[in-house]
Amino acid sequence: MKSFRKELFFQTKNRFELINITRDVQNAINESGIQEGLCLVNSMHITSSVFINDDESGLHNDFKIWLEKLAPHEPISQYRHNLTGEDNAASHLKRQIMGREVVVAITNGKLDFGTWEQIFYGEFDGCRRKRVLIKIIGE
Ligand code: ZN
Repeated sequence: MKSFRKELFFQTKNRFELINITRDVQNAINESGIQEGLCLVNSMHITSSVFINDDESGLHNDFKIWLEKLAPHEPISQYRHNLTGEDNAASHLKRQIMGREVVVAITNGKLDFGTWEQIFYGEFDGCRRKRVLIKIIGE
């Protein structure tokens, strides 16, 4: 069995951004040379997510509004976590809902997706350097 590890880096302009990273993940699979196996992709931070959904701008706007209703950033003082001097409690909550990681099958060297599935990095506390881990195992 072979294994391959790679990190992706992000520094978004905005606190909230959703970024399609499907091409980056497929490039990592190509680099790995693995044809049959599993690919794990996870955020290495507790205020951002990796998730699978549709690459459709209306849906992405819906995610933003829905997450902001569930965990509004303001007022910052509503969260106990922010008493530590941080302002990102809402970002931790958004990450928890959207998840930490995805695992996708690799078949014939390609991500073995269902229809419309794409992999996204969800940033909820951006404007600083963040990392995503890609770990691939297989043959
Ligand atoms: Zn925090």
